[in-house]
This record gives sequence, C-alpha cells and structure tokens, in this order.
Amino acid sequence: MSFKASPPGRTREAPWVEELRSARKDKLIGGEIFLYPQIDSTNQKSREYGNRGAREGVVVLADSQSAGKGRLGREWESPGGVNLYFSVLLRPPLPPAAAAQVPLLAGVAVATAVSRATGLEARIKWPNDVLIGGKKAAGILAEMEAEGAGIRFIVVGIGVNVNWRQKEMPPPLRKTATSLREEGKKEFSRSLVAGEIFEELEKEYILFLQEGFSERLREKWNGLSWVNQKRVTAVALDQKWEGRALGLDRDGALLLEDEQGKIHRFIAGDISLRL
Ligand code: ADP
Repeated sequence: MSFKASPPGRTREAPWVEELRSARKDKLIGGEIFLYPQIDSTNQKSREYGNRGAREGVVVLADSQSAGKGRLGREWESPGGVNLYFSVLLRPPLPPAAAAQVPLLAGVAVATAVSRATGLEARIKWPNDVLIGGKKAAGILAEMEAEGAGIRFIVVGIGVNVNWRQKEMPPPLRKTATSLREEGKKEFSRSLVAGEIFEELEKEYILFLQEGFSERLREKWNGLSWVNQKRVTAVALDQKWEGRALGLDRDGALLLEDEQGKIHRFIAGDISLRL
C-alpha cells in the first residue's frame, strides 16, 4: 500500500481502500472503516473502539500487523502490502452462549465470499480456518466482551492471504498456508475480496439475528466443511480424541464418532483439530 501526501499534511489512501469505502458506504458492515497502515492487532484496536461505544459494523482495517493474533495465543503472520487484516465490531442482542456460533457463521461467510471473488473452492476447517486445496488461506478469531447476562460486543477478526507469495512466507508456514494468488495463479484485488466478505458477513449476520443458528446455516456449514467424514484428532491442552468428524449438530457443536461408535461433542473453546 502506498501513501502519497496530497494535499500537503494529509495522506491519501491507497486506491483499493477508497474503492472499498465507496462500495460499502451506507452498509452495516464496513460503512465506517478505520484504516491503520500498521497496527499491533486489529482485534485489539477493535476492542478499544468497542469499549468506547463505537457502533455495530465498524471495521478496523490494517495493511500490516505487528502482533496479529491466532487462537490460543498463537500468532497470525501479517506482512504488509499483500493481504487483508480486519476486525468487525458486532453487538448482537443475545446471551453470551450465542457467541460460540458467530465464528461458524463467519466461516461460512468468508468461504462463500472467497469462492465468489476468486472462483476457487474454499472450505472450512473447524472451527475457524478457511482452506483452499487443503491449505490455510484465511483465519478467523472472534473475541467477546460480555456484560452481565448479555454480549457487550463481539470482535470478529479476519485475516486473508490474498497476494502473498509462497516464497515470501516464513518457511514453517509454506506447507500449511497458501494464498489466493498461489491457488488462483494471479493477483486479486484486496478491495474486491474484502467487499465480498463484508457483504456475505452482513447477510449471514442479519439472518443469524432473525433465525439463530438455523438449519439452513448448519447445512451450509456442513456443505463447506473440509473435515466432515474425515478421520481427525481433536486436541485440548491435556487430552485428545480420535474419530470421524460427522459435522455440526443443532447447537453448532462438532460431532466426532470414535472407534467404539461413541459420539463426542466439541465446542470450539480450547480445542484444535488435526487431520
Ligand atoms: P489453529 O488452526 O491451529 O487453530 P489458529 O487458527 O489459531 O490455529 O491460527 C494460528 C496458526 O496459523 C499459527 O500457529 C500458524 O501455524 C498459522 N498461521 C499463522 N499465520 C498464518 C497466515 N498468515 N496464513 C496461514 N496460516 C498462518
């Protein structure tokens, strides 16, 4: 992203951000975008906005992150100029228990939007990764602040590897990570990809507020799942379970059938899935 001073003393935004702003004006998600050329973490900044009363739908967008977050204290690699890193502030009028379903709807939205923007087949790896060709192209990290019996806000952080080249990735990631460019063999517009994600997220979120974790959403998630019917290991801090992933149940928990035919239920929390 390049910043040219014009008029003097002010910075002009990169054209892709201007495009994104104009595509989203008057919309709920992305109707207001706070842009940071560099930031520690968009989720962190978005929580600050949330605590200061910012309205639902506000987006914090960064060109690069110095401390991008993954789940369970992991890091999200966030180089500048090539990818998308943003966090969306939501204020669903729901009890905290419903927050566990938000990353699931976000996964559906991101996979659907990425497929639409690129023509590539994007799938969901429970709970929060979006894979293309079995490799991670996007990640989602939702964080909630509760207030009494309600949700104060949820920050949905999304990172998408857009034009990142494999040779620029840190070597340990090259086997597990990919980008839209690597898979599609061409560059993609960050504004187009972000715009599709905002649109799809807005659609799914509004339906979620109306219908809750519906049969429609569950089927859509199961249809996009990378893990269903595969043998997987669910790993917690001090325990693991092996079995065949059956998909989500009515509450959005992942079902795993072990060798003995016993069914285990997992909500995302502290569990990771290995294939
Ligand atoms: P998990 O998939 O194990 O639940 P997270 O969703 O928390 O992990 O993502 C963090 C992990 O993803 C990191 O430990 C690293 O292996 C990998 N990772 C970090 N940055 C990226 C990136 N930009 N693209 C793809 N994978 C990444």
